Amino acid sequence: MKTRSRTLHPIATIAGMKVWSKATRAAGKTIGLVPTLGGLHDGHLSLVQRSLATCDATVVSVFVNPTQFGPGEDFDRYPRDLESDRRKLEAAGVAVMFHPSVEAMYPRGYKTFVDVEAITDALCGKSRPGFFRGVATVVLKLFNIVQPHQAFFGEKDFQQLAVVETLVRDLNLDVSLVRLPIFREPDGLAMSTRNLYLSPAERKSARVLSRALEEAQQRVRRGEQSCDQLRTRLRNRIESENHAQVDYVSICDPETFREKDHVGDRALIALAVRIGQTRLIDNCLVRSFECSESC
Ligand code: AMP
Repeated sequence: MKTRSRTLHPIATIAGMKVWSKATRAAGKTIGLVPTLGGLHDGHLSLVQRSLATCDATVVSVFVNPTQFGPGEDFDRYPRDLESDRRKLEAAGVAVMFHPSVEAMYPRGYKTFVDVEAITDALCGKSRPGFFRGVATVVLKLFNIVQPHQAFFGEKDFQQLAVVETLVRDLNLDVSLVRLPIFREPDGLAMSTRNLYLSPAERKSARVLSRALEEAQQRVRRGEQSCDQLRTRLRNRIESENHAQVDYVSICDPETFREKDHVGDRALIALAVRIGQTRLIDNCLVRSFECSESC
């Protein structure tokens, strides 16, 4: 059993974070990193708990990364409540909350970006151009600054996880990635900071994502193989709900993210849906005649 930190150290500077990481590594301790945009909820905390259980010291980064938001997206209004995040992390026993400023991460004259190719052409990469470039860049920067032994990511952002795995593999990074299942509200809605944007009526409508996924899984279990049929039914089911508009419905290979014709051995069903103005995502893996744990 790992010991939990009694006091949380908020660190805002890159230099301060590097000093802490160097000293922690020199003391022979392992570091776990949970990168977040803040607005922490129990989904984030499930990653934190895993890090606390497996690493000697846990760092949670809280940084609303401007390079992963496109023009017209919600960068300016993204929920920011550092004090509430700090309290949650302290109660959990986290050692460090790393909360750098935008100016520290991207100073004047900043020029370097990381592009992971091919797997970013589809799904969220297609609907949010530049999103994964921003994600890959900030994650690499965080790895360089925090020097974690392990980093923890949620399958809620399934494609993002694949992007980070590819980044780690292709750039020979010395960090092992841990993937954690989607943490849901009791009614099935995947937890997300953006759920805060929903009005009570929209919050009800938002249940359609997980319900549509469940229905698709049942169809696959009953033998449905045609991805076209499944996509059409998913789209119709979602758009029959008030406030809901499909951004994408994908049934794809979970490694290449190419659309599939037949479910075959394994497929990822991934959704992006606007509920009112709020874009939500959800996904599950399906196998023919059985459902994965993450469903
Ligand atoms: P975010 O702050 O939304 O960028 O999320 C930070 C990390 O928490 C990412 O690895 C997400 O995949 C993960 N995460 C967010 N929501 C959930 C959830 N409901 N269940 C599991 N992991 C999540």
